[in-house]
Amino acid sequence: RQRFGDQLVVVTGAGSGIGRATAQLFAGLGAEVVVADLDLAAAEETAKTIGAAAYPFQADVADEDAMTRFVAEVADAHGVPDVVVNNAGIGLAGAFMDTTSAQWQRVLDVNLMGVVHGCKLFGELMVARGEGGHIVNLSSAAAYTPSRTLPAYAASKAGVLVLSECLRAELAAHGIGVSAICPGLVNTAITSTTRFAGASDERQEVLRRKASSAYAKRGFPPERVASAIVKAVLDNTAVVPVTVEAKAGR
Ligand code: NAD
Repeated sequence: RQRFGDQLVVVTGAGSGIGRATAQLFAGLGAEVVVADLDLAAAEETAKTIGAAAYPFQADVADEDAMTRFVAEVADAHGVPDVVVNNAGIGLAGAFMDTTSAQWQRVLDVNLMGVVHGCKLFGELMVARGEGGHIVNLSSAAAYTPSRTLPAYAASKAGVLVLSECLRAELAAHGIGVSAICPGLVNTAITSTTRFAGASDERQEVLRRKASSAYAKRGFPPERVASAIVKAVLDNTAVVPVTVEAKAGR
């Protein structure tokens, strides 16, 4: 029997990058996968690469009402998930003094509250079912690497890291594991949704191109993070860095 045979795995932000690679890997290990994304066409693209074991959904993790409907639809159609990967996220770069309150709000709504909604709504179902499970949250190495260019993004990811550790302590009694994954640079399309605080519209494009070429050159392949996610579930690991240093055991 395959490792995740008979299991249901939910991945948010599965239309691209790490989420897509993670959905594909779990499906390859026998799971049925709910492939959710803000962008339904992107979710459907991912589902097409998997086949009959993938169920595409549109879901905005930042919107609590939409998430409540999404979670109910998943439960009705496919049952309670065994694994939930709260992966959806957006980038925000720029100095603190250039970052507006609206930009702070958006990155916190998606990156932090999106994870809160996923943990709460799916967590309630898992607890009620009483058969355990696992929740994986995408934090970032940025959460513990002070940088003058990522204050808001890093703060959102530090929130995810601490939330995950608190929830891990709370849900242990229910046999539900919680892991936070903290990757360094990963070569994905995240730069296409990254806003650059303090930059004009024309400058956004220039900065975006620069960032994507740096990510393409120096980033890990998303499959590497997908493997770390699967391993975190199998080993029930609390915090998993995915960096060159971690690879070298430093
Ligand atoms: P990506 O842009 O390739 O994929 C993110 C996906 O999330 C996209 O398909 C996007 O449509 C979706 N999404 C965005 N907002 C959403 C919302 N409100 N609701 C639902 N879906 C939404 O990015 P990625 O690099 O694969 O990032 C995945 C996660 O990994 C993010 O949380 C990101 O912060 C984190 N991460 C990425 C890196 C990196 O270097 N790429 C490093 C550390 C952590």
